[in-house]
Amino acid sequence: MNDKSEAGEDTAFSAPSERQTQSSSAIDHCMRLNQKTAYIGKIGRLRERYCLDQMRYMKVCHKKIGQDQMSYVEAKGQTISCARSCSSCCFVYVGATLQECEAIAYYLWHNEPARNSWLQRFPGWREAVRQGGDIFQYCEQTFSNMLLFGQDRQREKTFDKALRAHNKQRLVCPFLENDLCLIYEIRPSNCAGFFVTTPPEQCRPTGLSEPKFSITTIDDVVSDVSFYYQSLACPVTLYMPVAVYRIMEEGFAYLSRFPGLDGLESAAMSDPEVQAIIRSSSLE
Ligand code: SF4
Ligand code: SF4
Repeated sequence: MNDKSEAGEDTAFSAPSERQTQSSSAIDHCMRLNQKTAYIGKIGRLRERYCLDQMRYMKVCHKKIGQDQMSYVEAKGQTISCARSCSSCCFVYVGATLQECEAIAYYLWHNEPARNSWLQRFPGWREAVRQGGDIFQYCEQTFSNMLLFGQDRQREKTFDKALRAHNKQRLVCPFLENDLCLIYEIRPSNCAGFFVTTPPEQCRPTGLSEPKFSITTIDDVVSDVSFYYQSLACPVTLYMPVAVYRIMEEGFAYLSRFPGLDGLESAAMSDPEVQAIIRSSSLE
């Protein structure tokens, strides 16, 4: 799919392109090394503090979103139908900021059962997304256009078209296991913000009528450009499962390709503590 021609405009943002297929042993080695070097050295420690703060912030946002939703529906005399183990909506496009993705990667590095379960499911899911034409790239691009150039009717329509094309595939999120979200406590604000007031049965593919999805967002989350190294040149929202995987697989190399973060990889990797780990890993 040609994102630019579909979106109808150029953009200053595009997510770094993915690595070409590697052997699984090479990927395992990259991941292992990234795990060891992610939060050590001067930048690694800043990163760890930033991720812990971000996780706390995400929980505060979940609470705020819940309160906003309650006020919204109460004012209309309605009730929210969503409950924790209700998951028929977990096939929709999940956009998250780069900062949220960093926090989720941190959480997964420190939560082995969730990480293993997700990593087991990820390759099959990623292949299905690829087979479907990687429509998420079109969603990322069209959403970024709204962030960068302003939200007007045309851009909303284009983003909506991308979302509908993505959601039509009904690819279940790889973080869903037995109807529970593996990262529930730090799920992206978009997941926390998603709700309906229609009966839950309507959200299922077999539902007789269309559910009326609503989403509560927090502007400060979407427009955040803060980072632990310099700052982002513009807000970045990505397809969460793919971005989290790439943070874990490619580490600082992936992050340093976003506008504003140039130099991050060399600054982090030249740290003597990181260098020592790299040397000892090459001897293993
Ligand atoms: S949006 Fe629908 S499927 Fe999702 S949690 Fe709410 S009721 Fe359940
Ligand atoms: S991250 Fe969790 S809540 Fe969000 S779509 Fe995936 S499984 Fe559902």
